Amino acid sequence: MSKENYKIFLKGYGLKATPGRIRLLKYLADSKKPNSIKDIGKAIGTRTMDQVTIYRTLETFKTLGFVRRVDFHKDYAYYELAGKDHHHIFCENCGRIEDFEGCGSDKLIKTALRQSKQFASINDHSIELFGVCRSCARSLK
Ligand SMILES: [Zn+2]
Ligand SMILES: [Zn+2]
Repeated sequence: MSKENYKIFLKGYGLKATPGRIRLLKYLADSKKPNSIKDIGKAIGTRTMDQVTIYRTLETFKTLGFVRRVDFHKDYAYYELAGKDHHHIFCENCGRIEDFEGCGSDKLIKTALRQSKQFASINDHSIELFGVCRSCARSLK
């Protein structure tokens, strides 16, 4: 996407296309993987946007539905552009991230709703898997 297209995209969501928001959006679009808020902060630079503004902007993007927050059991959040349903495998040793598809959530949601006494619908799900990547498995031997 060009800078002009990011502007149109943000305006489509009723957001002012500030340079910081455009940089943030472009960074997420280019990286194709979840990035920790720490890495995003480093990449965007504190001169354009401070850490708090970056966090608030990501949360706004999340509320509007085009950014996802991913929980890798760290004390900081990861964010990625929302796309088609996919999930991640996270290396607990080095933090490597790989995507996977086909989580079988349809079946899971049916089962959950059948057992549930209080819920009418399930609207979203988050499934991340944790393990050790091949390269870490080799060096840990
Ligand atoms: Zn690893
Ligand atoms: Zn899924």
